[in-house]
Amino acid sequence: MQTLPLGTEPVVAPRMPTADGAFAQNRTLVGLDRAEIAERLKTIGVPEKQVKMRTQQIWSWMYHYGAKDFDVMTNISKDLRARLAEHYEIGRPEIIEALISRDGTRKWLLRYADGNEAETVFIPDDDRGTLCVSSQVGCTLTCRFCHTGTQRLVRNLTPAEIVMQVLVARDDLGEWPTPHDGRRLTNIVLMGMGEPLYNFENVKKAMQIVMDEQGISLSKRRITLSTSGVVPEMARCGQELGVNLAISLHAVDNETRSRIMPINNKYPLEELLQACADYPGASNARRITFEYIMLKGINDSDDDARKLVRLLKQYKIPAKVNLIPFNPWPGSNFERSDDRQIKRFSDIVFGSGISAPVRTPRGEDILAACGQLKSESEKKRKSERLREERLGQEQAG
Ligand code: SAH
Ligand code: SF4
Repeated sequence: MQTLPLGTEPVVAPRMPTADGAFAQNRTLVGLDRAEIAERLKTIGVPEKQVKMRTQQIWSWMYHYGAKDFDVMTNISKDLRARLAEHYEIGRPEIIEALISRDGTRKWLLRYADGNEAETVFIPDDDRGTLCVSSQVGCTLTCRFCHTGTQRLVRNLTPAEIVMQVLVARDDLGEWPTPHDGRRLTNIVLMGMGEPLYNFENVKKAMQIVMDEQGISLSKRRITLSTSGVVPEMARCGQELGVNLAISLHAVDNETRSRIMPINNKYPLEELLQACADYPGASNARRITFEYIMLKGINDSDDDARKLVRLLKQYKIPAKVNLIPFNPWPGSNFERSDDRQIKRFSDIVFGSGISAPVRTPRGEDILAACGQLKSESEKKRKSERLREERLGQEQAG
């Protein structure tokens, strides 16, 4: 077995400072709820009795028609449109990279106003299209197998920055106005960069906008939040958002789990599984997904598979298991389990009556698969810095 460094204590990502630092946070109307938009309209002199109607119109332009500027809002007077444009904006962040994989997976790297970046991935399938959305720049939880966890720079994304990811994807997929039938983007998973339950307020606000029936109107049944196991926030996720829950389980004993996921030191397996058993809204029709990464020689034995089944039954959790073959990234220290062992593991879990499909890695050629996300330009910046340092040393020497 490989030796791994001991786990470090996870830290909560610092809260975003207000106003500056985010995507033109003081100007954008994206990511605001209706009451906040109404406030902004009052500030620029929209008469009280018009505020509700104007808010509604702007909302519909932004989230049903995908408007990027006020000019297109033909049911709003020219004068008001000009005033809106003077004070506010509804545009997109800078897209520094838009890649399409051989298998049709797409990845966008977005740069926000303060220079921070986050990635969004779209995964088309026969009957659905899933957008994998980021909740933070980087991640404070240093899971050993995850590229995002190695990124030093971390901050929470604002609601605007989270909603923007959905808007950018739909711009490129040509999904405005929101189609009634035959949508390409049908599902959202909060499985991009970051731990969504360390940024729950902002994630919640963003998802409420995405679910809003007068806009993008995506059902909560089509949204899945994935967490590494931030136990104290899990119940709120069910109560206040009602979305599907996925748990990055990845190991069936505390020793192994703590070794590969330091957060397990804080919220060990027993607490995590109890919180799953108590998750509001979970039922046989709406099962909790347990993601299980297949790491050769670490967590992939037949015994591990049997123990997984035992645990899920012991806690009476309506569960399905998703087996994720480990996706390597530059400098990662693990190996993907052999196909034969992945199949055995899956068969054991299936044999007990729990569904356990193996997730096919998607978009590997553009580093878009699970756990491979890390801002490209951070890597570039780092290599530039190294080069500069070396140059500096040469000049000094
Ligand atoms: N922070 C949340 C959301 C990210 S979801 C969480 O951890 O749940 C991304 C999923 O991909 C998680 O299940 C994560 O454990 C998994 N993952 C991370 N690195 C991976 C890798 N290298 N190969 C395969 N899956 C990985
Ligand atoms: Fe963060 Fe999730 Fe990656 Fe762990 S797996 S480092 S929690 S993004």
